Amino acid sequence: MYLKRLDIKGFKSFADNTELQLNPGLNIVVGPNGCGKSNIVDAIRWVLGETSIRQLRGQKNEDVIFNGSDKKKALGMAFVELVIDNSDHSLPLDFSEITLGRKVHRSGESEFYLNKSRVRLKDISDLLSGSGVGKKGYAIISQGELEEVLNGQALDRRLMLEEAAGVIKYRQQRDEVKKRILNSSNDLLRLGDILEELD
Ligand code: ATP
Repeated sequence: MYLKRLDIKGFKSFADNTELQLNPGLNIVVGPNGCGKSNIVDAIRWVLGETSIRQLRGQKNEDVIFNGSDKKKALGMAFVELVIDNSDHSLPLDFSEITLGRKVHRSGESEFYLNKSRVRLKDISDLLSGSGVGKKGYAIISQGELEEVLNGQALDRRLMLEEAAGVIKYRQQRDEVKKRILNSSNDLLRLGDILEELD
């Protein structure tokens, strides 16, 4: 799996339709200060389902929409589309190419798209869960997060590594199974009591 193409329209500094072709392996974005390099990463985070506007270096949801410049007036909508090459079927969908999309209007909430069809954020989160590229994945590490890793407590670092390794998903499943076993044991005890009373 790799990110294949990013289409941005009206997102942050990208007023015009901008298409970025990405390749497997290393892709490097070079440009002067303030030209929009980090905005590209923000666009990827956003289309993958980021809901915290602060993670996207904004204050309110509409901060992701192009808010005008000397030459261009502000836009009413931001749209980002990310094409993922899934020919190795890392993501559990029977498509060799998966397109994720997200749109937001100044007036309202985000709309999410999976292969051009409207879906819920949960559908995107479920699809990306455990793949490392989801909202909670560590595929994208910002400068601030890098400092957190270096200065963080051992436990925080362990949780981060477990998330990156995909262990957390199994830990959650294990905890759920433990809870069900406990409930069943309690039911069995109660059943035993009832049987004793009947004897
Ligand atoms: P540096 O190399 O300094 O880290 P950068 O290339 O990563 O810079 P970004 O942080 O991606 O730059 O982009 C910053 C620019 O994006 C600023 O000029 C800012 O005004 C512009 N910008 C951010 N949000 C919007 C918006 N909603 N509308 C228009 N422009 C925006």
